[in-house]
Amino acid sequence: MIKTSQAPTITLRDYQQDAIEAALNHFRQSRESAVLVLPTGAGKSLVIAELARIAKGRVLVLTHVKELVAQNAEKVALMAGSGSIYSAGLGEKDSGGKTVIAGIQSAARNLDAFSEPFSLVIIDECHRVSQDKDSQYHSLFAALKAANPNLLLLGLTATPYRLGEGYIHKRHVHGHVGNPDKGVFDVCIFELPMRVLIKKGFLTPPRLLDGLAAQYNFANLKASEDSDYSEAEVESVLNTSGRATTAIVGQLKALGASRRGVIIFAATVRHAKEVLALLERGESKGLQNIGMQEGEASTAIQNTTSAALITADTDAIERDRIINAFKAGQIRFLVNVSVLTTGFDAPHVDLIAILRPTASVSLFQQMVGRGLRLYPGKTECLILDYAANGFSLFHPEVGKPRPDSKSVPVQVPCPACGFANLFWGKTDQDGDIIEHFGRRCQGIIEDGSQCDFRYRARICPDCGAENDIAARICRSCDSALVDPDKHLKAVLAHKHHHLFKVADMQLSASGNDLLISYQDMDGNPFEERFKMQTDGQRKALFAAFLAPHQRAPGVKLPRYKQASEIVADRDRFKMPELLLLKKGKFGWQLLEKFFDYTGKYQSQRRFETD
Ligand SMILES: [Zn+2]
Ligand SMILES: [Zn+2]
Repeated sequence: MIKTSQAPTITLRDYQQDAIEAALNHFRQSRESAVLVLPTGAGKSLVIAELARIAKGRVLVLTHVKELVAQNAEKVALMAGSGSIYSAGLGEKDSGGKTVIAGIQSAARNLDAFSEPFSLVIIDECHRVSQDKDSQYHSLFAALKAANPNLLLLGLTATPYRLGEGYIHKRHVHGHVGNPDKGVFDVCIFELPMRVLIKKGFLTPPRLLDGLAAQYNFANLKASEDSDYSEAEVESVLNTSGRATTAIVGQLKALGASRRGVIIFAATVRHAKEVLALLERGESKGLQNIGMQEGEASTAIQNTTSAALITADTDAIERDRIINAFKAGQIRFLVNVSVLTTGFDAPHVDLIAILRPTASVSLFQQMVGRGLRLYPGKTECLILDYAANGFSLFHPEVGKPRPDSKSVPVQVPCPACGFANLFWGKTDQDGDIIEHFGRRCQGIIEDGSQCDFRYRARICPDCGAENDIAARICRSCDSALVDPDKHLKAVLAHKHHHLFKVADMQLSASGNDLLISYQDMDGNPFEERFKMQTDGQRKALFAAFLAPHQRAPGVKLPRYKQASEIVADRDRFKMPELLLLKKGKFGWQLLEKFFDYTGKYQSQRRFETD
């Protein structure tokens, strides 16, 4: 608990106090490493400083950039009196205090200076700690644990998620899994959504602008399972979008004229240069030389329409100069490629223009977050989503890249444990879920393990166990799982078998029978007919059609009594890729349906329509 004898001069906000309580409660019962998630602008430094003040033993605060070392040290001094700084970048190397604030590079290169035991390590921007055991963070942790095996580890971040690696924690205190196998931290113990901060007035409200001059068409990009869109594909869309870029920059110039500071997120370096050139067209040269000659700032102040570009290749000195000129209002438009998403703080920014596509909710919100800091006289921040990312500013993180541009986060309760899963999916106008892409329940059950319910599964033919749909080996009996292509090849070698490549599926009511009419590539028909009179017939319909075709498995369907009700709900049912048919006495008979099939028997239509 907080000691009142040493009351700090600053009053913490209620959620900061909650975060601190969460950490204290956790470490009272556990030595597992933990994560606190606080959005940008929540005042992480104060939480860190207060934890450092009330912790019993020595505390080491780590982060990756000198600006954050300085900021944390300032807050530690404010709350706790003083702290030692160990950072080559700041020119100080003192590792002797009760609280030490260090840069990770400096600390990892001087492990000897950290041989006196610490009781708690706090890592700021802890999503920077990768799974790589050879990283600077992990080698420092190993050395610190050698000095004190009971060392406690606490991370703070705004984004507990790494594209390509997933969540940084193994599980969440809300009772669901994060990244159970590879999470760097054990448990996320506290998470504060951005919308709470906006509602309470601690962040500036964002306003998403309609009526954009143009939008890029990134709708056909497909994110892979664990990463963002490929740069080559993004570039190929941009190569044919020169007109859109001209219109977008024209609108940005017009809107930017009445704004304090504008940050533009470009998709690639080439794209960023194009945007910069368009911004500068027709402007007096002004600040183009910013960062090259000091002392020019005074002449530059008059020219507030000037623009500058920062990329990953911009050298550190030039980057600092550009950022300082931007903060001083000497540069109006700051174009960047993937560099201003974290650890950059310019509170005056009141227009964010997003010209890059992303499949990541977190990344989108990080970009928006650059404009939400409070600033005198600033009442809103304008958000221009020229890439039509279409995320709500308050979408929760789903933990996987968005599969396509029409997907939204949907909540799907688990039929087994009741946990409310968050998956990518699609809803109809009423908000009802018609499709989701979840595979396995994310809930944690009583014994602490992940709930075993699977929405989609590959059944092992040998032992009947359910496996992930991408699994090749059964997790229960180690049998090789059937490769559908091998299976099809064997079956098709038999006489009278035919593979029907579905090109279209229509539902209709014929009296009270439900009629499913399939058509293949050449226009050949195949039909299924279901009666719905008796309970038994309705059960058969459920088993043979409703359940296997459902786009949102595990979501309860209405109790259909009439075929016409199912026809009206046709969007809930997907078309199979393939039908395996066998010629019998009475014509073609359906043996098997293949959904979400990708293999050598796939029909060409996917490539034509996608
Ligand atoms: Zn479950
Ligand atoms: Zn098995």
